[in-house]
Amino acid sequence: MRRIYMDANATTPLLPEVVDAMRPWLLENFGNASSIHQHGQRARAAVEHARESVARLVNCRESEIVFTSGGTESDNMALFGLVKPGDHVITSSIEHHAVLHAAERLRDRGIEVTFLPVAREGAVDLDDVRRALRPNTQLISVMMANNETGVIQPVEEIGRIAHEADVWFHTDAVQAAGKINIDVQAIGCDLLSVSGHKMHAPQGTGVLYVRRGIRIEPLFFGGAHERQRRAGTENVAGIVGLGRAAELAYGALRNGSMDRVAAMRDLLERGILERVEECSVNGAGAARVPNTTNLQFENLEGEALVIALDLKGLAVSGGSACMSGATEPSHVLTAMGLVTNRARGSLRFSLTKLNTEEEIDTALELVPAAVSRLRELAPVNVGTLG
Ligand code: PLP
Repeated sequence: MRRIYMDANATTPLLPEVVDAMRPWLLENFGNASSIHQHGQRARAAVEHARESVARLVNCRESEIVFTSGGTESDNMALFGLVKPGDHVITSSIEHHAVLHAAERLRDRGIEVTFLPVAREGAVDLDDVRRALRPNTQLISVMMANNETGVIQPVEEIGRIAHEADVWFHTDAVQAAGKINIDVQAIGCDLLSVSGHKMHAPQGTGVLYVRRGIRIEPLFFGGAHERQRRAGTENVAGIVGLGRAAELAYGALRNGSMDRVAAMRDLLERGILERVEECSVNGAGAARVPNTTNLQFENLEGEALVIALDLKGLAVSGGSACMSGATEPSHVLTAMGLVTNRARGSLRFSLTKLNTEEEIDTALELVPAAVSRLRELAPVNVGTLG
């Protein structure tokens, strides 16, 4: 069976060009980028070349790029690196757990945290941001694009509010990188997180942009790597892969590849809405990244649909997460006001430029068939799931 992958927001496959760039650094070329001999100098040059490529993707200086182990580390560094007990932080209720759980830890350490609500369409309201500001607010952290719905948050406006209030602004751009243009100058953010594996680079690679002049407290202590901001020998092969992926993402945003992804997503979304009754799009009215659609199927257990589609060779993900052994509805969808059974009946399809129109056609056969079979077999009682 040929498998179809539509779960890019979970992780993306490495592009062949990325593997080619990394290969020498996994085989014949090795070196510690801090060593002064030739092995070290070559590794250093490769790391700095990757830094240039990433800086170009987000429009910043090379010195403002800190390589990390991924989105989670970048988010944690941003949240823990600038605040102290007694400070106030504003974030949103739809952040990834890398921000949400870090913010909860801040609270345990004596930092006040406000979790902003979102409107039905899944975006933060700017008036809520303004109203949440306090004299002791130090940091606002609101994501650029949501991982479950793809809804783009008004980050440029939030950047302006933060600037006027003299508050730092961090944005988690993990689900935006490679999908939409990122310009840290236009956003006006002080910190921005990127993860390699959401843009065809290896898992375990990432970046935190830190605006020049900001002194951020590191998470790790050790050597003076990354201008004393992130101790630890650089993952040269991973960083080279991330740099190459950033170059390809930069190109894809300019050569029409992402427009093609948007067209496939729209075809898939429209096709399912036409073929399946009692189905709607979560976040339909909001601006969304081009690759994501989150669909709500009434009277259906989403997890059962994920499994049924997987058995047919189509990989997607559901609107619930397994927490402590129980299936919990997604915190993002519930924050958007969906009742439990509607959140549980939601599925995320997320594409890359590697998907094809034939795969969309196949999905348009598989999804309606699986939905009607499941609805016949085990109709979900709306009344009991609440
Ligand atoms: N932030 C967002 C919005 C994400 O979607 C993810 C991963 O799903 C992360 C952060 C964490 O990134 P990583 O998997 O690189 O730790």
